[in-house]
Amino acid sequence: MTAPAPTDLTPDRVRAELAAWVGQHWDPAMSLRDWRELLFESGWAVPSWPERWHGRELPAWADELAGSELLRLGAVGVPVGSGTWLAAPTILAHGSDELRERLLRSTLTGELTWCQLFSEPGAGSDLAGLSTTAVLDGTTWVINGQKVWNTSAHHADLGMLLARTDSSVPKHHGITYFVLPMKQPGVEVRRLRQMNYHASFNEVFLTDARVPMDNVVGAVGHGWTAALTTLAYERRFAALRRPSYSPAPGRALDEARAEADDHFATYSWYPQRAGRPDLIIEHARAAGVADDPVIRQAIARLLTLHRVSAWTAERARAARAPGARPGAEGSIGKLAASNIARESAKVHAMIAGAKGLLTGPDSALGGVVAEVLMSVPGQSIAGGTDEIQKNILAEKVLGLPGEIRVDKDIPFSQIGHRG
Ligand SMILES: Cc1cc2nc3c(=O)[nH]c(=O)nc-3n(C[C@H](O)[C@H](O)[C@H](O)COP(=O)(O)OP(=O)(O)OC[C@H]3O[C@@H](n4cnc5c(N)ncnc54)[C@H](O)[C@@H]3O)c2cc1C
Repeated sequence: MTAPAPTDLTPDRVRAELAAWVGQHWDPAMSLRDWRELLFESGWAVPSWPERWHGRELPAWADELAGSELLRLGAVGVPVGSGTWLAAPTILAHGSDELRERLLRSTLTGELTWCQLFSEPGAGSDLAGLSTTAVLDGTTWVINGQKVWNTSAHHADLGMLLARTDSSVPKHHGITYFVLPMKQPGVEVRRLRQMNYHASFNEVFLTDARVPMDNVVGAVGHGWTAALTTLAYERRFAALRRPSYSPAPGRALDEARAEADDHFATYSWYPQRAGRPDLIIEHARAAGVADDPVIRQAIARLLTLHRVSAWTAERARAARAPGARPGAEGSIGKLAASNIARESAKVHAMIAGAKGLLTGPDSALGGVVAEVLMSVPGQSIAGGTDEIQKNILAEKVLGLPGEIRVDKDIPFSQIGHRG
């Protein structure tokens, strides 16, 4: 594999190299798994990764470029979802070589699917206050506790699990990051119904669930560092879109479309959660208010915000050194995504009026507007609330004094009733 020299690194050059490789290797008659194996081996699955782990050591912008180019060329990229976007980069950054060997390939080929087991009924924004425990029994960790709001846990193979392994130290220091096999007797997953009537979340009850010792990501007691990596990647993926696969025939494409159907059965409301600014002009025209000066101004304001935010994200990506992880700048993107979602819901509501509350085929945009209104609040909660992003920006970017955290330096077992 020959990555372009740093001086030649233009998007056009990367695009041309990828197109040449796809021209030689893409065969839609292959199985999806075989194609993704090839993609992984070639370094084009995640081109920003190190060569040793099947990347091409290109800058971070090359990952998104490769994803969209593969689709444009009629081929298929890596699977969408928390395995590709959260688990894989966290394992790459913090996992042992054995874990990387065992899990990176099977995650990027779509063989293994993941969920995130971070939040608990008593620990969301205060994630380091989590009380699920892990106790070592020979060569196996035994897990007990409850997680909540765990998207896709009902069909995941593996969970990114945070659990407390030491209560005698301050709360951030006694947490360990595990890879939990989900399909075992000690893991009970219960679906939760949301106000938009979808059911993508779960509660997960862990009763003597078992994790092999080799499934620790990073060091025992140092899970907080790995958790911050997962959260930094999570902030970058506020808007989840179904890949637009070519409608052409072929086994790999059929399997990719089936995989997307399955995956987006859970995530079908995520575009609505992002506010659907892309539908705003269509909505105004369909409602016959595209000439209304007040609505035109609101639309212009929304689309300006949307465009500026996309450029800011592009600038942040371009500025990120090859191999570097996203930093606090992800919080700006996440906050912008919340503002756009709220603003978009407001403009859709201005256009639809009271009809925006109706669902069904005769309602505004066939019920999409009602779903936007019910789903947008989730945007500013998932992956860390707006207030938490502001705290991160205040402290890490602006250097303002830290929030007063009275329980930060005392042993976890001495915090209130916990321990
Ligand atoms: C769509 C969606 C998908 C999700 N998927 C997952 C998942 O897959 N896995 C998972 O583990 N979790 C998931 N979550 C849960 C999410 O991470 C938590 O909901 C989030 O971290 C907030 O925690 P909480 O709900 O406990 O709210 P709380 O932490 O109780 O917050 C309540 C309110 O208090 C405010 N607040 C709290 N602390 C502070 C502070 N220090 N300063 C200022 N204000 C503060 C918050 O901003 C919020 O407004 C998901 C949530 C959503 C909405």
